[in-house]
Amino acid sequence: MLKVQNKEEETIHYAKKLHLINVKNNLATYIERAKRENLSHLDFLNYLLREEVEQKEQRAKLRRVKEACFPYPKSLEDFEIERTRNLTQDKWEKLISLEWIDQIFNLILIGPPGIGKTHLSIALGTLAAKQGYAVSFVTMKELVQLLKTENINFKNKNRLKRIRSSRLLIIDEVGYLPISPVESGLFFHLLSELHLKTSILITSNKSFDQWPEFFGDEDVVLGALDRILFHCDVLSLDGDSYRLEHRESLL
Ligand code: ADP
Ligand code: MG
Repeated sequence: MLKVQNKEEETIHYAKKLHLINVKNNLATYIERAKRENLSHLDFLNYLLREEVEQKEQRAKLRRVKEACFPYPKSLEDFEIERTRNLTQDKWEKLISLEWIDQIFNLILIGPPGIGKTHLSIALGTLAAKQGYAVSFVTMKELVQLLKTENINFKNKNRLKRIRSSRLLIIDEVGYLPISPVESGLFFHLLSELHLKTSILITSNKSFDQWPEFFGDEDVVLGALDRILFHCDVLSLDGDSYRLEHRESLL
């Protein structure tokens, strides 16, 4: 039973029950302001609820960014478009509109080391997370390790659960280290599970003609690659343009 000392304590108790964290923590400050500014009943209630909603949304944004597991923060504001030869203003605007995620398009960023692939992918992922999309960031090396240990490691199983339920999956550094046929099989199995429900952003320093060499050239691999590339934009950050046949493109 609640032992009520006074109205303020009682209100805090109700706020706690309703998970109104802000009201619970800051009631005295809010009351102070209401007195100072002579707020009407409606203005006071409106103020309390608005603060609660805004803070809740802010916490959700931070949570989604944290859950994405970016290796470090990078922002779009710090990305200099003019340093990349193939990124026009028009393409840039479409990219940051995130329309490609709504339409479940994939994005492949190709280019030599240091050209900004990881930076751009973290920055786009962070924007998407802040706008409400579930995002996961993983390196190819990490992803293969997760898939191989999924059934023996509870933490990895959870991480993959999150990866599978993401709207945007960023796979960094595809094609850097050789992978075995078993690893390639696990990777493509995941990609086919995600097909048509998750946008995949891949960064790679290898051009497509080298992909079969990296992943193996069995039918299953080539089929999966075709599927990824079908609804896909390819941005070569150092300027060469990649034209693939039978590909729908947004940018
Ligand atoms: P990559 O993944 O292509 O090897 P990174 O994204 O790791 O390259 O970039 C290397 C460093 O250079 C990072 O610190 C990144 O912030 C910076 N950088 C690269 N390209 C740009 C750019 N266009 N604008 C601003 N910083 C950039
Ligand atoms: Mg990189």
